[in-house]
Amino acid sequence: MEVMDNMNQHFNELRGIVGDSYISTRVPLKQYTSFRIGGPADIIVFPPNIELLKKVVSYLSQNQVTRLLIGNGTNLLVSDQGFRGVVVHTGKNLKTIQVQEDEKCIYAQCGALLSAIAAAALKNNLGGFEFASGIPGTLGGALFMNAGAYGSTMSDVAVSTTALDAQCNEVTVNGADHDFGYRSSCFRKNNLFILESKLQLYSCDYDTIKEKMRDLNMKRKSSQPLEYPSAGSVFKRPVGYFAGKLIEDSGLKGCKKGGACVSEKHAGFIINSGDATAQDVDELINHIISEVYNRFSVKLEPEIIRIGEF
Ligand SMILES: Cc1cc2nc3c(=O)[nH]c(=O)nc-3n(C[C@H](O)[C@H](O)[C@H](O)COP(=O)(O)OP(=O)(O)OC[C@H]3O[C@@H](n4cnc5c(N)ncnc54)[C@H](O)[C@@H]3O)c2cc1C
Repeated sequence: MEVMDNMNQHFNELRGIVGDSYISTRVPLKQYTSFRIGGPADIIVFPPNIELLKKVVSYLSQNQVTRLLIGNGTNLLVSDQGFRGVVVHTGKNLKTIQVQEDEKCIYAQCGALLSAIAAAALKNNLGGFEFASGIPGTLGGALFMNAGAYGSTMSDVAVSTTALDAQCNEVTVNGADHDFGYRSSCFRKNNLFILESKLQLYSCDYDTIKEKMRDLNMKRKSSQPLEYPSAGSVFKRPVGYFAGKLIEDSGLKGCKKGGACVSEKHAGFIINSGDATAQDVDELINHIISEVYNRFSVKLEPEIIRIGEF
Protein backbone atom coordinates (compact mmCIF):
# COMPACT_ATOMS: atom_id res chain seq x y z
CA MET A 1 0.00 0.00 0.00
CA GLU A 2 2.79 2.39 1.01
CA VAL A 3 4.65 1.49 -2.17
CA MET A 4 1.64 2.43 -4.31
CA ASP A 5 1.19 5.70 -2.37
CA ASN A 6 4.83 6.45 -3.12
CA MET A 7 4.27 5.58 -6.77
CA ASN A 8 1.28 7.94 -6.92
CA GLN A 9 3.46 10.68 -5.49
CA HIS A 10 6.27 9.90 -7.97
CA PHE A 11 3.74 9.90 -10.81
CA ASN A 12 2.50 13.35 -9.85
CA GLU A 13 6.02 14.76 -9.44
CA LEU A 14 7.23 13.28 -12.73
CA ARG A 15 4.10 14.47 -14.54
CA GLY A 16 4.94 17.94 -13.23
CA ILE A 17 8.40 17.63 -14.84
CA VAL A 18 7.52 16.18 -18.27
CA GLY A 19 3.84 17.04 -18.75
CA ASP A 20 0.75 14.82 -19.19
CA SER A 21 1.58 13.58 -22.69
CA TYR A 22 4.92 12.03 -21.72
CA ILE A 23 3.99 9.73 -18.83
CA SER A 24 1.74 6.69 -18.25
CA THR A 25 1.08 4.09 -15.57
CA ARG A 26 0.58 0.33 -15.65
CA VAL A 27 1.53 0.07 -19.31
CA PRO A 28 2.41 -3.50 -20.38
CA LEU A 29 6.08 -3.47 -21.30
CA LYS A 30 5.41 -6.04 -24.06
CA GLN A 31 4.54 -2.93 -26.09
CA TYR A 32 8.14 -1.77 -25.73
CA THR A 33 10.14 -4.97 -26.19
CA SER A 34 11.06 -6.71 -29.44
CA PHE A 35 10.15 -10.05 -27.77
CA ARG A 36 6.59 -8.68 -27.32
CA ILE A 37 6.81 -10.02 -23.77
CA GLY A 38 6.62 -8.24 -20.41
CA GLY A 39 4.13 -7.26 -17.73
CA PRO A 40 3.30 -3.71 -16.64
CA ALA A 41 5.64 -1.04 -15.35
CA ASP A 42 4.36 1.05 -12.44
CA ILE A 43 5.28 4.21 -14.35
CA ILE A 44 6.79 4.86 -17.78
CA VAL A 45 8.19 8.26 -18.77
CA PHE A 46 9.13 9.40 -22.28
CA PRO A 47 11.19 12.56 -21.69
CA PRO A 48 10.61 14.94 -24.62
CA ASN A 49 14.12 16.39 -24.58
CA ILE A 50 17.54 15.98 -22.96
CA GLU A 51 17.03 18.77 -20.42
CA LEU A 52 13.85 17.15 -19.08
CA LEU A 53 15.50 13.73 -19.22
CA LYS A 54 18.19 15.07 -16.87
CA LYS A 55 15.50 16.40 -14.52
CA VAL A 56 13.69 13.05 -14.52
CA VAL A 57 16.87 11.09 -13.79
CA SER A 58 17.85 13.58 -11.11
CA TYR A 59 14.41 13.26 -9.44
CA LEU A 60 14.67 9.44 -9.51
CA SER A 61 18.19 9.49 -8.02
CA GLN A 62 17.35 12.00 -5.29
CA ASN A 63 14.31 9.95 -4.26
CA GLN A 64 16.08 6.60 -4.68
CA VAL A 65 13.38 5.31 -7.02
CA THR A 66 14.14 2.02 -8.77
CA ARG A 67 14.53 2.80 -12.47
CA LEU A 68 14.98 1.01 -15.74
CA LEU A 69 16.21 2.57 -18.97
CA ILE A 70 14.76 1.29 -22.20
CA GLY A 71 16.08 2.33 -25.58
CA ASN A 72 14.26 0.17 -28.12
CA GLY A 73 13.84 -2.87 -25.86
CA THR A 74 15.59 -5.24 -28.29
CA ASN A 75 17.87 -6.93 -25.78
CA LEU A 76 15.46 -7.37 -22.89
CA LEU A 77 13.42 -10.17 -21.34
CA VAL A 78 10.92 -8.48 -19.02
CA SER A 79 9.18 -10.59 -16.37
CA ASP A 80 5.46 -11.40 -16.70
CA GLN A 81 5.01 -9.51 -13.42
CA GLY A 82 6.51 -6.44 -15.07
CA PHE A 83 8.71 -3.86 -13.39
CA ARG A 84 8.18 -2.25 -9.99
CA GLY A 85 9.55 1.23 -10.43
CA VAL A 86 9.91 3.85 -13.15
CA VAL A 87 10.88 3.09 -16.73
CA VAL A 88 12.65 5.89 -18.59
CA HIS A 89 12.12 5.32 -22.31
CA THR A 90 14.50 7.17 -24.63
CA GLY A 91 13.63 5.65 -28.01
CA LYS A 92 10.55 7.75 -28.70
CA ASN A 93 11.72 11.33 -28.43
CA LEU A 94 15.50 11.64 -27.97
CA LYS A 95 16.44 10.89 -31.55
CA THR A 96 18.26 13.93 -32.91
CA ILE A 97 21.09 13.14 -35.33
CA GLN A 98 23.51 15.80 -36.58
CA VAL A 99 26.11 15.21 -39.25
CA GLN A 100 29.33 17.26 -39.04
CA GLU A 101 30.62 17.04 -42.58
CA ASP A 102 33.98 18.78 -42.01
CA GLU A 103 34.84 16.48 -39.07
CA LYS A 104 33.36 13.41 -40.82
CA CYS A 105 31.46 12.54 -37.71
CA ILE A 106 27.91 12.16 -36.44
CA TYR A 107 26.52 13.46 -33.15
CA ALA A 108 23.44 11.54 -32.03
CA GLN A 109 21.17 11.42 -29.00
CA CYS A 110 20.76 8.23 -26.99
CA GLY A 111 17.34 7.31 -28.44
CA ALA A 112 18.40 7.53 -32.10
CA LEU A 113 17.99 4.19 -33.87
CA LEU A 114 21.18 2.69 -35.31
CA SER A 115 19.34 2.26 -38.63
CA ALA A 116 18.59 6.02 -38.71
CA ILE A 117 22.22 6.87 -37.93
CA ALA A 118 23.32 4.47 -40.68
CA ALA A 119 20.91 6.15 -43.11
CA ALA A 120 22.35 9.58 -42.20
CA ALA A 121 25.88 8.25 -42.70
CA LEU A 122 24.97 6.88 -46.13
CA LYS A 123 23.27 10.11 -47.20
CA ASN A 124 26.42 12.05 -46.28
CA ASN A 125 28.92 9.63 -47.84
CA LEU A 126 30.31 8.55 -44.47
CA GLY A 127 31.55 4.97 -44.13
CA GLY A 128 32.22 2.91 -41.00
CA PHE A 129 28.71 2.44 -39.65
CA GLU A 130 27.44 -0.15 -42.12
CA PHE A 131 27.86 -2.99 -39.59
CA ALA A 132 25.23 -1.43 -37.32
CA SER A 133 22.56 -0.64 -39.90
CA GLY A 134 20.64 -3.88 -39.23
CA ILE A 135 20.95 -3.94 -35.43
CA PRO A 136 17.51 -2.85 -34.22
CA GLY A 137 18.62 -0.93 -31.10
CA THR A 138 19.17 2.68 -30.14
CA LEU A 139 22.53 4.39 -29.78
CA GLY A 140 22.25 4.30 -25.95
CA GLY A 141 21.49 0.57 -25.83
CA ALA A 142 24.23 -0.16 -28.37
CA LEU A 143 26.93 1.77 -26.48
CA PHE A 144 25.86 0.20 -23.18
CA MET A 145 26.15 -3.30 -24.73
CA ASN A 146 29.01 -2.48 -27.13
CA ALA A 147 26.77 -4.00 -29.79
CA GLY A 148 28.48 -5.40 -32.83
CA ALA A 149 28.12 -7.45 -35.98
CA TYR A 150 30.21 -8.77 -38.85
CA GLY A 151 33.56 -8.00 -37.22
CA SER A 152 32.87 -4.45 -35.99
CA THR A 153 31.51 -3.06 -32.73
CA MET A 154 30.47 0.31 -31.36
CA SER A 155 33.98 0.59 -29.90
CA ASP A 156 35.26 1.18 -33.46
CA VAL A 157 33.26 4.38 -33.91
CA ALA A 158 32.44 5.96 -30.52
CA VAL A 159 34.98 8.68 -29.70
CA SER A 160 33.23 10.82 -27.11
CA THR A 161 30.07 10.30 -25.06
CA THR A 162 28.23 12.40 -22.50
CA ALA A 163 26.45 10.58 -19.70
CA LEU A 164 25.00 11.07 -16.22
CA ASP A 165 26.77 9.37 -13.33
CA ALA A 166 25.09 7.94 -10.22
CA GLN A 167 25.02 11.41 -8.61
CA CYS A 168 23.49 12.83 -11.81
CA ASN A 169 26.60 14.79 -12.70
CA GLU A 170 27.19 15.12 -16.41
CA VAL A 171 30.44 13.39 -17.41
CA THR A 172 32.21 13.18 -20.76
CA VAL A 173 33.89 9.91 -21.62
CA ASN A 174 36.60 10.02 -24.29
CA GLY A 175 38.43 7.34 -26.30
CA ALA A 176 39.80 4.44 -24.25
CA ASP A 177 37.86 5.56 -21.18
CA HIS A 178 34.76 4.02 -22.78
CA ASP A 179 36.39 0.80 -21.55
CA PHE A 180 34.63 -1.29 -24.19
CA GLY A 181 34.83 -5.08 -23.99
CA TYR A 182 32.77 -7.96 -25.31
CA ARG A 183 29.17 -6.74 -24.75
CA SER A 184 30.40 -4.39 -22.05
CA SER A 185 31.34 -0.75 -21.56
CA CYS A 186 32.08 1.76 -18.80
CA PHE A 187 28.37 2.65 -18.95
CA ARG A 188 27.39 -0.90 -18.05
CA LYS A 189 30.12 -1.30 -15.42
CA ASN A 190 29.38 2.01 -13.68
CA ASN A 191 25.61 2.29 -14.25
CA LEU A 192 25.89 5.50 -16.29
CA PHE A 193 22.98 7.00 -18.25
CA ILE A 194 24.16 7.77 -21.79
CA LEU A 195 22.88 11.09 -23.18
CA GLU A 196 24.61 11.53 -26.53
CA SER A 197 27.71 10.47 -28.42
CA LYS A 198 30.07 11.48 -31.19
CA LEU A 199 30.76 8.77 -33.78
CA GLN A 200 33.86 9.08 -35.94
CA LEU A 201 33.37 7.86 -39.51
CA TYR A 202 35.33 8.39 -42.76
CA SER A 203 34.69 9.66 -46.28
CA CYS A 204 33.45 6.94 -48.55
CA ASP A 205 31.72 6.54 -51.85
CA TYR A 206 27.87 6.39 -51.59
CA ASP A 207 27.52 3.26 -53.72
CA THR A 208 30.21 1.41 -51.76
CA ILE A 209 28.45 2.12 -48.47
CA LYS A 210 25.06 1.20 -49.91
CA GLU A 211 26.37 -2.06 -51.37
CA LYS A 212 27.98 -3.05 -48.05
CA MET A 213 24.78 -2.33 -46.11
CA ARG A 214 22.74 -4.29 -48.62
CA ASP A 215 25.12 -7.30 -48.40
CA LEU A 216 25.13 -7.35 -44.61
CA ASN A 217 21.39 -6.94 -44.35
CA MET A 218 20.80 -9.74 -46.86
CA LYS A 219 23.08 -11.98 -44.79
CA ARG A 220 21.06 -11.06 -41.71
CA LYS A 221 17.74 -11.72 -43.43
CA SER A 222 18.81 -15.10 -44.75
CA SER A 223 20.28 -16.33 -41.45
CA GLN A 224 18.05 -14.78 -38.75
CA PRO A 225 14.32 -15.31 -37.97
CA LEU A 226 13.46 -11.62 -38.42
CA GLU A 227 9.84 -12.48 -39.15
CA TYR A 228 9.27 -13.43 -35.46
CA PRO A 229 9.54 -11.40 -32.27
CA SER A 230 12.86 -12.10 -30.51
CA ALA A 231 15.67 -10.36 -28.67
CA GLY A 232 18.40 -11.39 -31.11
CA SER A 233 21.13 -13.81 -30.00
CA VAL A 234 20.17 -15.11 -26.58
CA PHE A 235 23.66 -16.15 -25.48
CA LYS A 236 27.10 -14.59 -25.49
CA ARG A 237 29.67 -16.24 -27.74
CA PRO A 238 31.62 -18.71 -25.56
CA VAL A 239 35.38 -18.49 -26.16
CA GLY A 240 36.30 -20.87 -28.98
CA TYR A 241 32.70 -21.78 -29.90
CA PHE A 242 29.50 -20.42 -31.43
CA ALA A 243 26.44 -20.61 -29.17
CA GLY A 244 24.09 -21.32 -32.10
CA LYS A 245 26.19 -24.26 -33.30
CA LEU A 246 26.41 -25.79 -29.80
CA ILE A 247 22.62 -25.49 -29.44
CA GLU A 248 22.00 -26.97 -32.88
CA ASP A 249 24.45 -29.82 -32.23
CA SER A 250 22.59 -30.54 -28.99
CA GLY A 251 19.52 -31.26 -31.11
CA LEU A 252 17.60 -28.30 -29.72
CA LYS A 253 16.42 -26.59 -32.92
CA GLY A 254 12.64 -26.28 -32.70
CA CYS A 255 12.63 -27.15 -28.97
CA LYS A 256 9.64 -25.45 -27.28
CA LYS A 257 8.48 -24.37 -23.85
CA GLY A 258 4.99 -22.92 -24.11
CA GLY A 259 5.14 -20.24 -26.82
CA ALA A 260 8.94 -19.90 -26.70
CA CYS A 261 10.81 -21.83 -29.35
CA VAL A 262 14.45 -22.30 -30.44
CA SER A 263 14.48 -20.91 -33.98
CA GLU A 264 14.77 -23.46 -36.79
CA LYS A 265 16.58 -20.82 -38.84
CA HIS A 266 19.20 -19.82 -36.25
CA ALA A 267 19.52 -21.88 -33.06
CA GLY A 268 21.08 -18.93 -31.22
CA PHE A 269 17.68 -17.17 -31.32
CA ILE A 270 14.62 -17.91 -29.19
CA ILE A 271 11.46 -16.72 -30.91
CA ASN A 272 8.06 -15.83 -29.51
CA SER A 273 5.89 -18.04 -31.67
CA GLY A 274 2.65 -16.39 -30.55
CA ASP A 275 1.82 -16.11 -26.91
CA ALA A 276 5.11 -16.82 -25.13
CA THR A 277 5.50 -15.67 -21.55
CA ALA A 278 8.73 -14.54 -19.95
CA GLN A 279 8.56 -17.70 -17.87
CA ASP A 280 8.45 -19.84 -21.04
CA VAL A 281 11.56 -18.10 -22.36
CA ASP A 282 13.33 -18.36 -19.01
CA GLU A 283 12.59 -22.09 -18.77
CA LEU A 284 13.80 -22.63 -22.32
CA ILE A 285 17.02 -20.71 -21.60
CA ASN A 286 17.69 -22.86 -18.51
CA HIS A 287 16.94 -26.04 -20.48
CA ILE A 288 19.37 -25.00 -23.25
CA ILE A 289 22.10 -24.15 -20.74
CA SER A 290 21.81 -27.52 -19.05
CA GLU A 291 21.57 -29.56 -22.29
CA VAL A 292 24.58 -27.83 -23.87
CA TYR A 293 26.57 -28.21 -20.65
CA ASN A 294 25.74 -31.93 -20.38
CA ARG A 295 26.83 -32.50 -23.95
CA PHE A 296 29.82 -30.20 -24.42
CA SER A 297 30.82 -29.04 -20.88
CA VAL A 298 30.43 -25.45 -22.09
CA LYS A 299 28.42 -23.12 -19.83
CA LEU A 300 26.40 -20.73 -21.98
CA GLU A 301 25.81 -17.29 -20.53
CA PRO A 302 22.77 -15.20 -21.54
CA GLU A 303 23.44 -11.99 -23.46
CA ILE A 304 19.85 -10.80 -23.10
CA ILE A 305 19.09 -8.89 -19.93
CA ARG A 306 16.36 -10.17 -17.60
CA ILE A 307 14.26 -7.47 -15.95
CA GLY A 308 12.04 -7.97 -12.90
CA GLU A 309 11.27 -11.15 -11.00
CA PHE A 310 11.77 -14.65 -12.39
C1 LIG B 1 16.47 -9.28 -34.55
C2 LIG B 1 17.59 -8.79 -33.65
C3 LIG B 1 18.88 -8.77 -34.12
C4 LIG B 1 19.93 -8.32 -33.30
N1 LIG B 1 21.19 -8.31 -33.79
C5 LIG B 1 22.20 -7.88 -33.00
C6 LIG B 1 23.55 -7.83 -33.51
O1 LIG B 1 23.83 -8.16 -34.66
N2 LIG B 1 24.52 -7.42 -32.66
C7 LIG B 1 24.26 -7.03 -31.37
O2 LIG B 1 25.19 -6.66 -30.66
N3 LIG B 1 23.00 -7.05 -30.88
C8 LIG B 1 21.98 -7.45 -31.65
N4 LIG B 1 20.70 -7.47 -31.16
C9 LIG B 1 20.45 -7.07 -29.75
C10 LIG B 1 20.13 -5.58 -29.56
O3 LIG B 1 19.54 -5.02 -30.71
C11 LIG B 1 21.38 -4.77 -29.18
O4 LIG B 1 21.95 -5.23 -27.97
C12 LIG B 1 21.06 -3.27 -29.04
O5 LIG B 1 22.24 -2.58 -28.88
C13 LIG B 1 20.14 -2.97 -27.86
O6 LIG B 1 19.69 -1.62 -27.99
P1 LIG B 1 18.29 -1.16 -27.39
O7 LIG B 1 18.17 0.30 -27.59
O8 LIG B 1 17.20 -1.99 -27.90
O9 LIG B 1 18.56 -1.46 -25.85
P2 LIG B 1 17.52 -2.01 -24.78
O10 LIG B 1 17.20 -3.43 -25.10
O11 LIG B 1 16.41 -1.06 -24.62
O12 LIG B 1 18.45 -1.99 -23.49
C14 LIG B 1 19.60 -2.81 -23.40
C15 LIG B 1 20.41 -2.35 -22.18
O13 LIG B 1 20.93 -1.04 -22.45
C16 LIG B 1 20.54 -0.14 -21.40
N5 LIG B 1 20.34 1.18 -22.00
C17 LIG B 1 19.50 1.54 -23.00
N6 LIG B 1 19.62 2.86 -23.26
C18 LIG B 1 20.54 3.35 -22.39
C19 LIG B 1 21.09 4.64 -22.15
N7 LIG B 1 20.72 5.73 -22.83
N8 LIG B 1 22.03 4.76 -21.17
C20 LIG B 1 22.43 3.67 -20.45
N9 LIG B 1 21.93 2.44 -20.62
C21 LIG B 1 21.01 2.28 -21.59
C22 LIG B 1 19.23 -0.73 -20.86
O14 LIG B 1 18.95 -0.28 -19.55
C23 LIG B 1 19.54 -2.21 -20.92
O15 LIG B 1 20.28 -2.61 -19.79
C24 LIG B 1 19.64 -7.90 -31.97
C25 LIG B 1 18.31 -7.90 -31.50
C26 LIG B 1 17.29 -8.35 -32.34
C27 LIG B 1 15.88 -8.33 -31.83
